[in-house]
Amino acid sequence: MGKYVYSFKEADYRNKKLFGGKGASLIQMSQLGLRVPPGFIITTEACKKFYEPRREEIAELEAALLKNPPPEVRDQVIEKLHKVIDSLELPQEIWREAVEYMKRLEEETGRKFGDPNAPLLVSVRSGAAVSMPGMMDTVLNLGLNDETVKGLAKWSGNEWFAYDAYRRFLQMFGKIVLSIDEKLFSSAWEEIKRKYGAKEDPEVPLEGLKEAVERFKQIILRERGGFPQDPWEQLRLAIKAVFKSWMSPRAIFYRIIEKITPDVADCTAVNVVTMVFGNVGWDSGTGVVFSRDVATGENKLYGEFLPVAQGEDVVAGIRTPMDIEEFRKRFPHLYDELYRGVKLLERVNKDVQDVEFTVEKGVLYFLQARNAKMTALARVKTAVDMAKEGIITREEAILYVKPDHVLQLLYPRIDPKAKAKPVAQGLPASPGAVSGQVVFHPDDAVRWAAEGKRVILARVETKPDDVHGFYAAVGILTSRGGMTSHAAVVARAIGKPAVVGAESVEIHEEEKYLKIGDIVVKEGEWITIDGHTGNVYIGVVPTIEAELIPELEELLSWADQVRRLGVRANADLPDDAAIARKFGAEGIGLLRIERMFRKPERLELLRRIILAESAEERRPYLEKLYKALKEDFKEVFRIMDGLPVIVRLIDPPLHEFLPKPEEVLEQIYQRKMRGEDASELEKLYKRVKALQEANPMLGHRGVRVGVTHPDFYYYLNRAILEAAAELKKAGHNPVVEIMIPQVADAREIVFVKEKSIIPALRDVEKEFGVSLNVKIGTMVETVRAALTIDEIAKHVDFISFGTNDLTQAVFSFSRDDAENKFIPQYLELEILDANPFETLDVKGVGKLVEYAAATAKEVNPSIEVGVCGEHGGDLKSIYFFHKTKVDYVSASPFRVPLARLAAAQAAILQSK
Ligand code: PEP
Ligand code: MG
Repeated sequence: MGKYVYSFKEADYRNKKLFGGKGASLIQMSQLGLRVPPGFIITTEACKKFYEPRREEIAELEAALLKNPPPEVRDQVIEKLHKVIDSLELPQEIWREAVEYMKRLEEETGRKFGDPNAPLLVSVRSGAAVSMPGMMDTVLNLGLNDETVKGLAKWSGNEWFAYDAYRRFLQMFGKIVLSIDEKLFSSAWEEIKRKYGAKEDPEVPLEGLKEAVERFKQIILRERGGFPQDPWEQLRLAIKAVFKSWMSPRAIFYRIIEKITPDVADCTAVNVVTMVFGNVGWDSGTGVVFSRDVATGENKLYGEFLPVAQGEDVVAGIRTPMDIEEFRKRFPHLYDELYRGVKLLERVNKDVQDVEFTVEKGVLYFLQARNAKMTALARVKTAVDMAKEGIITREEAILYVKPDHVLQLLYPRIDPKAKAKPVAQGLPASPGAVSGQVVFHPDDAVRWAAEGKRVILARVETKPDDVHGFYAAVGILTSRGGMTSHAAVVARAIGKPAVVGAESVEIHEEEKYLKIGDIVVKEGEWITIDGHTGNVYIGVVPTIEAELIPELEELLSWADQVRRLGVRANADLPDDAAIARKFGAEGIGLLRIERMFRKPERLELLRRIILAESAEERRPYLEKLYKALKEDFKEVFRIMDGLPVIVRLIDPPLHEFLPKPEEVLEQIYQRKMRGEDASELEKLYKRVKALQEANPMLGHRGVRVGVTHPDFYYYLNRAILEAAAELKKAGHNPVVEIMIPQVADAREIVFVKEKSIIPALRDVEKEFGVSLNVKIGTMVETVRAALTIDEIAKHVDFISFGTNDLTQAVFSFSRDDAENKFIPQYLELEILDANPFETLDVKGVGKLVEYAAATAKEVNPSIEVGVCGEHGGDLKSIYFFHKTKVDYVSASPFRVPLARLAAAQAAILQSK
């Protein structure tokens, strides 16, 4: 035979599954010697036993609700569920045990259940293993009846208080236990208030309360055949009601939304606790206190106290409570006791505490404690402070902070106090919240920004040509594109908030307006985007500024000491490198150089290079271009002085740098209309058409450009190497590594090395009279590169997994389209567990990474292995990379702190 009931003294507080969170805290506090009103817990096992006889039917109905059926079906299911549950009875053995523990409670308190002279009153409270605030039921003041109310009046010396408690109890019992429509009670109460001219409840005189008691009993008589005066009957029904509330529709829906599965919490416990009253007089009251300031993390009690009140009054916000500082002044000895208790709990639970308490006639009682919820700022500060105070270890502090908290600390956020309503939602591509005047063309963004305006660039989708607009804008909004689309990657890299793929936003670039449902936003009107949530708002929504607090720096320095994985940053331009270094990157894992071609004069040179038909024709442009690029490289190398910088040779298809054929055609037409010569343009049109590809992502790009245009790659290498040589001569320490993208075969590497990299190196070393120790490596982002890594690894000093392209290739999912076309549905249907462009697909892509990393090291033990896809900044993916032969991850600059923390967490968790 099982045991279903435990007193606070005999149970184990660590067993939250059995006793629920509230029960566990009552047990713990009472065992720590804090003053807790005596009581006992009926376990979650008892709850399961209660449901046992009709378990299967209930499970079926619950499963039907889980499917989120249409409202008519849902209501029918709920009705059936109620019928089934109403037929259940409290099992005899559970009731017998409960009665036995009530007797013990009587002995302990010296009061008796139902005794008019010294009545014992209890609260009957729900409490599952995880907090489900307000989702289940609780009954207070149980044990009151026509006789015991007189005893309560005598004990308190306050008849008004006793009848107020009684009328509250009747209403609560009627509603929760007997399922009577609450309106019947509230309208009767309103009538009484009117009759006595009372605006607020406390103004109703004693007579009015007695009248309410009578009327409430009448309602119960009419609706349910009478109110049970017998406290034992009240208790039996209340326990049953709390068990039943586990299956209330709101509790079921809450569990669905919060993903509370039976392994997390299965059924509710029932806490039966002796009542203490915060509303018996001015030396009584009730409050909530946190062991530290949950907004700022400051180490001082934070909370409030409401005199002459019961718990529900605080929640209802009828009166303004006093600050805990005021409480300290008024009741110094109580404050001291509270402080000691709260801090003791903090020490034992190793977390900031959220504690409910009541003062009854000058005596303090602890009613509940749980780990506090707090802001990201407070999380980080308290983690570091608690470690320094010896409450937690440094490792515990590292685990205590969620990497998301770190992200939140680095970007501005929507002020939650603003209570703004979003009008659309896209993918949260790059964190941060900003407001700006909307513009629809990158050139407009630049122009407006030059006039000192803050603009948000809204585009259907973006392409490399738009990037000057990105830099000018404070934020980016697109209606198409996924988390690794161009807009998303660039925005993250440069730390600009972005919402992408907001498909309900119709963007009319030419006409310069956007439309969301009926709302039209014209150029120049203000919008706000939140890259944390993907929300889009009309107008200016207040934001809170980000800050890099010293505590975060300290925590990250502890993280650096325990992590195995290195952390580098992805960068495009010198500015990114500066941010990366500030955030603690140990180098640049991927310098994407494409953006360096975007300055108009450079773009023009590049276009001429692409359009030239022979190496001779190309050379003068290449000569000019490489000198310009060199300056950018020098700046990056200078910023990262002493740390490795991996420069990737040009990657995208070349036609991305050319005008579209339709645009050229349009210009030809215009010229001809004006009677002008269009032969040059016609030549351009032919070239552009010839360069067009059906599948540009699988086309003439990356190393393939290097193979077909070795002179182009030669000059790129010269730019990189001359930059290094000049700096070296000037006494700096550039650590340069050159990376070849899109490789599928080792011979591509051999070719590019022979034809471009080595000649450039030789020439530069000779001309500058310096020796450059340059590493040469390759991206592993095609499936074939991963599969033939045994050959590839022999020819390189390092490899870096381009997990964006690798994911695209392994799934055959377009990285630009999949995320807002079908991936959401795949996630909903649980065909995919996570978006593979965000979190590395361990089963498929991960297998290749694991194999290729290990094989590369076998073949070439000194080879360095990195990851530079977006997964390098993703928590779960970092946990995975930690377990492979990967040496470091490279993340966008704003994700570097997150990666440092996540890598440390991976190391700590693995050693446990
Ligand atoms: C990748 O493919 O993962 C990568 C880092 O390169 P890009 O995103 O520039 O294609
Ligand atoms: Mg790539």
